[in-house]
Amino acid sequence: MSDKTLRFDRLEPLREQVDAWRAGGDRIVLVPTMGALHSGHLALVAHAKAIGQRAIVSIFVNPTQFGPNEDFSRYPRDTETDLALLAQAGADAAWLPSVETMYPTGFSTRIEPGPAAEGLCGTVRPGHFSGVATVVTKLINQVRPDIALFGEKDFQQLQVIRSVVRDLDMAVTIEGVPTLREADGLALSSRNRYLDPRERAIAPRLHAVLAEMAERLGRGAEAAPLIAEGTTALETAGFGPVQYLEVRDAQTLAPVVRAEREARVLVAAYLGATRLIDNVAVVPA
Ligand code: AMP
Repeated sequence: MSDKTLRFDRLEPLREQVDAWRAGGDRIVLVPTMGALHSGHLALVAHAKAIGQRAIVSIFVNPTQFGPNEDFSRYPRDTETDLALLAQAGADAAWLPSVETMYPTGFSTRIEPGPAAEGLCGTVRPGHFSGVATVVTKLINQVRPDIALFGEKDFQQLQVIRSVVRDLDMAVTIEGVPTLREADGLALSSRNRYLDPRERAIAPRLHAVLAEMAERLGRGAEAAPLIAEGTTALETAGFGPVQYLEVRDAQTLAPVVRAEREARVLVAAYLGATRLIDNVAVVPA
């Protein structure tokens, strides 16, 4: 394990380091994050180290993927703690660009992803996936990794990025990493720290409801009645509003009536002031 994570806040030295590593034959793996790191992020770093020689973690709270009434300004930022966690996890480099570095005066280009960005978070967060696609494209062009890792926790994001990389012939392999959960099922998320103790006690119901739906869908149940039942179960538990609860094809994200091939149940719901998302795989029996 390396106890030194090189820290970069300017692009040129970062690129020189990456070029030197690559010249030495190292496979470079990028893990894009918004910081406020938790064990879910660190699982991505561990995977990066398992499949490559160099793990580079970017930390950038990207303003262009937040809507005007979202939590950009209060999103948790704790760079020194993040860097200590990255050193423990054996990350080789942290890429910490400023907003000015990413979006200098005159910046004017945006990536508009296609159908994978429609519906689900794409509907309730207009412009979100354009912001994500643009910043991820920039990060990949900056770091030029062989592989970039994304969590299945943000399943639609993973599929959007796959489609952008495919459509734009980007020379990088995208890999998804399974969601890391607390013992009670709650998916680890930087936003979990917004939950008060009462909300934290309710939060695992989100995964429990999805897991039960996924199990019944896998045995051939129809989606629509399960969605109605699941929504009621979440509202009864104390969630609300439930922004969406849907069953989609795992590859295309097209809506599914009955799961005949691999699908996903996906949810976004508020718990108090905190918006939580999660998803679970449906594997037809
Ligand atoms: P974020 O900092 O929330 O943008 O997340 C950075 C990366 O970590 C994204 O690819 C997320 O999907 C991934 N991630 C976040 N939470 C988890 C988790 N609980 N398990 C696995 N990956 C996660």
